Order: sequence, then structure tokens, then C-alpha cells
Amino acid sequence: MDILCAYCQTGFQENDKIIKDDLNTLCHLACYALESDYIRDIDTYKNILEKYWFYQNLIN
Ligand SMILES: [Zn+2]
Repeated sequence: MDILCAYCQTGFQENDKIIKDDLNTLCHLACYALESDYIRDIDTYKNILEKYWFYQNLIN
């Protein structure tokens, strides 16, 4: 199962720049429409998965 962007509902590619917000929601950088105050991290999908172990449970 892939994790989908919260806005466009498209699966992420390894090198997509994505945002992790304060609710641990993931979305593309380009799709994000809220205040930047809520952003907790901006990185590639690949790096986000490496940094935050709990997302691994969602895709395995
Ligand atoms: Zn998106």
C-alpha cells in the first residue's frame, strides 16, 4: 500500500518533495495550501520514510 498525498490523492515518488505537518499528514510541497506554521519537515519522500519510522508501518 502506498501513502497518498492528502490533497491530490496521488502516491508519492521517491524523489518528490513532500511536507510533513504537525498531524503527521504527508502531501506534496506543491499541493500544500495551509499556513507554513504547521509544517514540521520538508524533504523527499525517500528521506521522510527514513527519518520517521512510523510511516514504514503504513506501506509494509
Ligand atoms: Zn499532491
